[in-house]
Amino acid sequence: MGKTRKIRSVLKSRPTIEGAGVRLKRAFGFDELPELDPFLLFDHFGSDNPDDYMAGFPWHPHRGIETVTYMIEGSVEHGDSIGNQGIINSGDIQWMTAGGGIIHQEMPQRHRGLMMGFQLWVNLPASHKMMNPRYRDIKKDQVPEILLDNGAKIRIISGEVGGVRGVVQDIVVDIQYLDIELEQFAELLHPVRDGHKVFAYIFEGSGSFDPEGSKQIGEGHLVVFQDGDSVKISAGAEGVRFFIVSGEPLGEPVAWQGPIVMNTQKELEIAFQEYRTGTFIKG
Ligand code: MN
Repeated sequence: MGKTRKIRSVLKSRPTIEGAGVRLKRAFGFDELPELDPFLLFDHFGSDNPDDYMAGFPWHPHRGIETVTYMIEGSVEHGDSIGNQGIINSGDIQWMTAGGGIIHQEMPQRHRGLMMGFQLWVNLPASHKMMNPRYRDIKKDQVPEILLDNGAKIRIISGEVGGVRGVVQDIVVDIQYLDIELEQFAELLHPVRDGHKVFAYIFEGSGSFDPEGSKQIGEGHLVVFQDGDSVKISAGAEGVRFFIVSGEPLGEPVAWQGPIVMNTQKELEIAFQEYRTGTFIKG
């Protein structure tokens, strides 16, 4: 018999202004390391007012991380220094490995009604910080979706569930990233790997995330779990939609400034120096 994970902490996402003036909610990305290692940041974009997001994220660099952008509603136009250009639409995913350096822009498009999307930053290990940048656009209909007996609907962004593999399979760090919907009062016991860091982020409805099912947690909240080999979720009266994300911790030193995440202060200085002098992009 395994051990169902208890809750370590529940954090409310905090209003944050990023890019050229985008109002968003940051679930984590302040000082939560090492509790969420290998994850660095999780941002929740959600507004029905285009003034909150139209300023976008004009040209900026990244180094040393991978970013995963997942749009639920709305679209984001992007372009980058390795020649990629396109639009991430509702249900689409963009997986971007900054590696040794990428310069890109991410510009939300005007959307009628609620625009909602998420961006996760996954750290790269020291051995891969300076790898060649790469990038994948995944369309909504390429994302595997499974339906369990209890009615749970799981979209597999990364990792494997019940023998079905997620669409992104060449990530440097081994992670599982799932978008899960539970109908009212439905329960889900979901296996996770012992030793991996696991968090949940609730974005619709509410539910309980502890083994006893005692406390209801609503949208805009992050649940960080203790150790164990499963998590148990029970939906509330309106059902619940949330992410479960887990990954193997890197356990390496983190030197982080803005969009660049390295292992040492010296590496950070070099990165910003190269950006200033126009030698940031390699190859
Ligand atoms: Mn970016």
